[in-house]
Amino acid sequence: MTTYVIVLSQNNMMVYFTPIMLNQPVMKRRLIIFLLAIVTVPVLAQDQDQVVEAIVKEATQQSQLERLAHELMDVVGPRLVGTPEMKNAHDWAVNQYKEWGIDAENQQWGEWRGWERGITHIDLISPRVRTLNGMMLAWSPGTGKKGVTAEVIALPDVTDSAAFASWLPNVKDKFVMISMPQPTGRPDENWEEFATEESFEKMKEERDAMNSAWRERTAKTGYGRRSLPVALEEAGAAGIIMSYWSRGFGANKIFGASTKEIPTIDLSLEDYGMLWRMAEYGDKPEIRVVAESKDLGPQPTFNTIATIPGTEKPDEYIILSAHFDSWDGATGATDNGTGTMVMMEAMRILKEVYPNPKRTIIAGHWGSEEQGLNGSRAYVEDHPEIVANLQALFNQDNGTGRVVNISGQGFLHSYDYIGRWLDAVPRDISRHIETSFPGRPGGGGSDYASFVAAGAPAFSLSSLSWSYWNYTWHTNLDTYDKIVFDDVRNNAILTAILTYMASEDPEHTSREKSVLPVNPRTGEKYSWPETRSPNRRGGLDSED
Ligand SMILES: [Zn+2]
Repeated sequence: MTTYVIVLSQNNMMVYFTPIMLNQPVMKRRLIIFLLAIVTVPVLAQDQDQVVEAIVKEATQQSQLERLAHELMDVVGPRLVGTPEMKNAHDWAVNQYKEWGIDAENQQWGEWRGWERGITHIDLISPRVRTLNGMMLAWSPGTGKKGVTAEVIALPDVTDSAAFASWLPNVKDKFVMISMPQPTGRPDENWEEFATEESFEKMKEERDAMNSAWRERTAKTGYGRRSLPVALEEAGAAGIIMSYWSRGFGANKIFGASTKEIPTIDLSLEDYGMLWRMAEYGDKPEIRVVAESKDLGPQPTFNTIATIPGTEKPDEYIILSAHFDSWDGATGATDNGTGTMVMMEAMRILKEVYPNPKRTIIAGHWGSEEQGLNGSRAYVEDHPEIVANLQALFNQDNGTGRVVNISGQGFLHSYDYIGRWLDAVPRDISRHIETSFPGRPGGGGSDYASFVAAGAPAFSLSSLSWSYWNYTWHTNLDTYDKIVFDDVRNNAILTAILTYMASEDPEHTSREKSVLPVNPRTGEKYSWPETRSPNRRGGLDSED
């Protein structure tokens, strides 16, 4: 006699027939499998279709993306680790999840140098008056409310480090420009479209020559990128002026300062170029800088973790992953506000249409990805039991675009399960996605890498660029207006469906690693990335 156990899952979405057949003869087993196939496939497919349809409907008719974007980017603002805005962001996310009936908490993983950005105001005072376009770098010391007025001078071209040392006293009470002035503020695409081929080639050659001359100029000072500002500061400079062009109209990258007492200011390409020309022609340009900031001392740092508990396999996990922190040159809309919105919206939708998942679903909003995946590395270190039982992780972190690429990250059987899950995704979303299986593990690109290094099946939902690298990645232009809501909505639907499918999958995902291919550049085999410890005390230890 054959015994069947029929299990109705709590949400009545799925019906499982579990044959107790291990001690049956082979022929009989085959018969059972055949009968099961007839009975279960239509039932499962029908339920699956209904859930997928409900996900799409919820995402398109009840979308919260615009409101989430407004609250996160406009009201909370940039999310630099250690700042009060970052803490506000974590609290906002926890409250938002609670409103949706989803448990969430902020888990502390470390401490970071606390800092608060105030206003930056930069004016050209002489030879004429004009407000300039720029801002101080992250963690920069300020000038105080009164501000500082001083002449601007250029980093000189000296013969060697001894000559530079004897020149150094000249910086006393001056602002010093330490970046190469760019020969053009037009991005290359613009030259490609309008320039004659000859003048485009000529510009590129001149720029290459300028770049190598500049590398020599800075090398001859005897200082490096981070030690030069400190040397200028110690010699009495009033402030450091730089310009880190991002090769797009009006786009500059805004990172962190290394000065301890004086401000480090980034100016727009042309305002910087104009000051440089004034200094070189002997116009003795003078600027006034009011830059306010507060050093807040050590501040706790967090990951926001939201959880929808599993009902049948609560100790197996699917993680929706996106870093929560940003640089603070703008509001971090595409790095990684959009990834954050995708994961939050997917969680909201799942809670609505699939409230009792088979496996536990977690959203991980990591702190301090930008300084070296610190939040996710700490989570991997602190939660080995979750990493060991991870069914899958989906991370999104390269801008606002629709997902166009999924790699198997080197997991030998990734094709089987990801292929199975993707099959459930509506064609108008999945047709844009190229897959590579088994692929190879990505280096340290974003937080999925922290999990892949630990051997756990974690995947990157990789987006169409929408000019991410030049225009929004770590720039002063990474703002709400760059969000492409239709693409973000598709990504939320994709993530919710992949999560649902991973949760319902009768099989636990395989972690078997593939033999990695040879790197054509080095001729050696790619190696599996190693687990690295997070920096849990950023900016607080003397060696930082
Ligand atoms: Zn990012």
